[in-house]
Amino acid sequence: MLDGAAYNFGFLDEYAKREVRRTILKAIAIPGYQTPYASREMPMGRGFGTGGLQLTLSLIGQSDTLKVIDQGADDSVNAVNLRHFVELTCPGVSTTERTVQATIIQSRHRIPEVLLREDQVLVLQVPYPDPLVVVEASEEKRKTMHGEGDYSRLLTKLYEDIVQFNEITISHRYPTKINGHYVIDPSPIPRYDVPRLHHSPNLILLGAGREKKIYAVPPYTSAVPLAFEDMPFRIENFVDSKGKRHACMRCGCTNSFLDEVISEQGQRQFQCSDSDYCNDQLALKVQHPEGANA
Ligand SMILES: [Zn+2]
Repeated sequence: MLDGAAYNFGFLDEYAKREVRRTILKAIAIPGYQTPYASREMPMGRGFGTGGLQLTLSLIGQSDTLKVIDQGADDSVNAVNLRHFVELTCPGVSTTERTVQATIIQSRHRIPEVLLREDQVLVLQVPYPDPLVVVEASEEKRKTMHGEGDYSRLLTKLYEDIVQFNEITISHRYPTKINGHYVIDPSPIPRYDVPRLHHSPNLILLGAGREKKIYAVPPYTSAVPLAFEDMPFRIENFVDSKGKRHACMRCGCTNSFLDEVISEQGQRQFQCSDSDYCNDQLALKVQHPEGANA
């Protein structure tokens, strides 16, 4: 059992936190650039959000309120473990499940449904930081391609997708150009979340612990998914075969990102992936039964 009192505030030592903060400043100064840093060993397996956690631990102070989500849910095992770790190692820090109350939101696979504010920071956990890895194995060559803004091979890959499937089939990790230069892997968020990177009021930090990279989408910065004029970027639309949009089976809303669940009877059903948003919609419905979802 980890005894929080035996550790420095935020688990990392002050030198490590300072280094991460310096790297964050550089990442903000060069939007979308994968900034290397000395990723520390954390007492959990890599691939469980150690990159995001190091960002959070370096930024968090006693006046902060933290929310941790995994696939939009606060109660999944990974999110619970990370939140518990912060509670143990950062005495005095509050945690919340309410998006609007959080000052730092650490997330895996989703951006919260409500628009975030300037005083909030979104930390995204990243498994694979480099979008060019699918077309070029050598990191040395990838760095040159990024530096020169040469994404022609990535565009060719997208084009091949269109030729083969008549659409771009990437569902997650959609390559997105930041501030007109660097293309990032925005972490495994769905396409639905990609437009929310564009000119967002809040700072977005992305941390890849295993790959030792930090990058950023600063507030009010352009974030444009790679696409073609005649084959524009599309988000998931959740419509049925008759063109009607599916509704959340719990709150009934038709304007959120939905997870598909199979009922015990084998039926396809849909539910908001953002559980805090779903709770809010449900509460609104109880208060104003006729006006909900209007
Ligand atoms: Zn819902």
